[in-house]
Parts: sequence; C-alpha cells; structure tokens
Amino acid sequence: MEKADRTCINPDCQYVFKPRRQSQKYCCRSCQREYNNKKARERREQLKPTTNALMKNRSILERILGSRNEAIVSMDYLQGAEFNFSYYSQTKRSDDQMIFCIYEYGLQKLSDGKLKVIRHDG
Ligand SMILES: [Zn+2]
Repeated sequence: MEKADRTCINPDCQYVFKPRRQSQKYCCRSCQREYNNKKARERREQLKPTTNALMKNRSILERILGSRNEAIVSMDYLQGAEFNFSYYSQTKRSDDQMIFCIYEYGLQKLSDGKLKVIRHDG
C-alpha cells in the first residue's frame, strides 16, 4: 500500500515527501541532523544558567583549597566570593551529617557555623 505524503518536521524545511519507512519524520538526513542539532543547542541553552553557577561554585572551592584537601571558611567569606548556596551537584551523608557537593568538592557545616571545604574522590 502506498504510504501517505508527509511533511518534514524540520520547521525550516516543511517539505512534503513520500516516506520510505513508517517512522520517517524528515525528508532527508541533513534535515534530521539540523533538527537534532537545534534541539541539542536549545537543551544546552536551557542548562546554561545552572551549569555556569555550578562551575563558578566549583572554581571558588578550587581556589580556596589550592593543593590542600581541607580548609575551614566562614559563610561570609563564601558569600563575599559570590558562592551561590542554591547550587549543588549532589549531596552525601557522613556521620549523620549532610555534605553538599559541587562535583569533587564538598561543603560540611561545622557546629560553630563555619564550613569545612573538602576534596573527595569521585
Ligand atoms: Zn526537510
């Protein structure tokens, strides 16, 4: 049976074509590539603010630690360095305490209100 004509879903093309396969959504490979690249670009743009905030936090902790594996800093110091406390990549538990991680770095709140910056593996 003849397959019905279809419109290419690439919005910049919208060419009407005869599909060779049931699942065919694009008139050609380059439309498929163009459309997928555009979607990937949009996804990267959406994630950019979060990625940038995380990378900034990471570089602040990297700078604080230098070659050390631990350092104690105050909340004010981190705020002064423009650390954004809303962005973490993951959390961990250690001795019933929450550690907020930014990739390979961790932040642990101490009883005096200061923060311990830790470097951990993985
Ligand atoms: Zn097309």
